[in-house]
Amino acid sequence: MSKRGGHHDVVILGAGLAGLSVARHLRTGYRLLEAAARVGGLCTTVEDHGFRFDKTGHLLHLRDAGIRKWVLGLLGERLVRIDRRSRIFSHGVYTRYPYQANTFGLPPQVAYECLSGFLAAWERRERGPEPRDFEHFILKYFGPGIAEHFMVPYNTKLWGVPPREMSTAWTDRFVPKPTLDDVLKGAVGLHDRELGYNAEFLYPRSGIGELPEALHAALRRKAELGTPVEAVDLRRRTVRAGGTDLPFRWLVSTLPLSELCRRLHDAPAWVARTAARLRCTSLTYLDVALDRTPGNDFHWSYVPEPRLPFYRVGAYSNFSEELVPRGKGALYVELAARGPFRRCDGPAVARGLVELGLIRRAGDVRFVRPRVIPHAYVVYDRAWDKSRARLLAFLREHRILSVGRYGSWEYSAMEDALLAGRAAARTVEENDR
Ligand SMILES: Cc1cc2nc3c(=O)[nH]c(=O)nc-3n(C[C@H](O)[C@H](O)[C@H](O)COP(=O)(O)OP(=O)(O)OC[C@H]3O[C@@H](n4cnc5c(N)ncnc54)[C@H](O)[C@@H]3O)c2cc1C
Repeated sequence: MSKRGGHHDVVILGAGLAGLSVARHLRTGYRLLEAAARVGGLCTTVEDHGFRFDKTGHLLHLRDAGIRKWVLGLLGERLVRIDRRSRIFSHGVYTRYPYQANTFGLPPQVAYECLSGFLAAWERRERGPEPRDFEHFILKYFGPGIAEHFMVPYNTKLWGVPPREMSTAWTDRFVPKPTLDDVLKGAVGLHDRELGYNAEFLYPRSGIGELPEALHAALRRKAELGTPVEAVDLRRRTVRAGGTDLPFRWLVSTLPLSELCRRLHDAPAWVARTAARLRCTSLTYLDVALDRTPGNDFHWSYVPEPRLPFYRVGAYSNFSEELVPRGKGALYVELAARGPFRRCDGPAVARGLVELGLIRRAGDVRFVRPRVIPHAYVVYDRAWDKSRARLLAFLREHRILSVGRYGSWEYSAMEDALLAGRAAARTVEENDR
């Protein structure tokens, strides 16, 4: 039906999971343009002196039967099923995840404040209005103790904005709401079920980057790597990349929505104004190589206290031993401060890792690589829904589908990116009949 470079082609921007999935599910011709030198986007693994690092923890959950069959068919035995081991470190002790259902082990006064606040909130939760913002949601469903000791400080560190500036649009899936029974059992140390969407996960033995590499290897037409898209001309219906203009019939973009909008020629002025209202936080994190195995066996731990410079620490080497040389360890440390990592902050990070028991002394660290993810978390503020919906509808009128985590500007997971790519391919084909 189509020929390479011709007017009939679908052009796909970005070869992360969403872009690779579009390519896999299209039956028509396509060009797949990727700025980076490799596929995978957020879902890549880099190797450094025998240590393999993802872009922080990337744990795979596959619920859709078709996506599961596709991925298992490609990765097979390479994919391992793992039971989550996650913890919370606060007040000098570890407790189980989620905090709100596991107060056992906290200092008695803290546990009491959490529990009595929860019980009071539980009694009132059926009364009163729907939460107007995330802070209100926390107080309504968890009470003031859990809000003070975990929910507010942790989420402020994670999102970079206080919960009162955020809506609740994302909470149903990502914030577990325990029952009264869960909380009572968790207060006395009884555990009969794991809570939350990620109680178990799949993980490829040599890092999450195995997934996009396998998807790419199976494509009938490969991505054009090192080909950043510079502009999209709405009137001429062309994409400018690598000095040439490529005509498109459909454009499927997985670039961050704000970045796509910045590249549009001939768009009305409101588009740029609306795109400027989309908010997200960047993330600075550290890849840390250790000369020994980590001192804890957890996969990751949440760290709510503002006095510690990171909000979450994970141990790659506890996911898979293929990620590190024998007897060594590898961590990711997600920093609360935005902006570039300052070397002078290194000692505070090392002291924190010692306090968490991951290392005995700074000398256990072989090397540290600071990394930045410019688009890490979408901020669900009050303008979020309206702004993105308006932009996505405008693009759709021009036969441009903007999909994926940042393409549709949402807090979503790897499987969602694969599903979004599949849905975009179907939209293209259904509208071309
Ligand atoms: C810190 C963090 C932790 C996460 N943890 C998990 C987890 O545990 N489990 C989970 O399921 N999900 C997790 N995710 C989400 C997951 O990474 C994403 O949902 C998924 O990888 C998004 O894929 P995508 O294709 O939509 O976007 P991306 O991976 O961002 O792909 C977009 C692609 O576009 C390319 N591109 C950008 N600009 C241009 C340009 N101008 N021209 C051409 N190409 C361009 C990029 O290089 C990239 O390859 C996490 C995300 C983050 C940020």
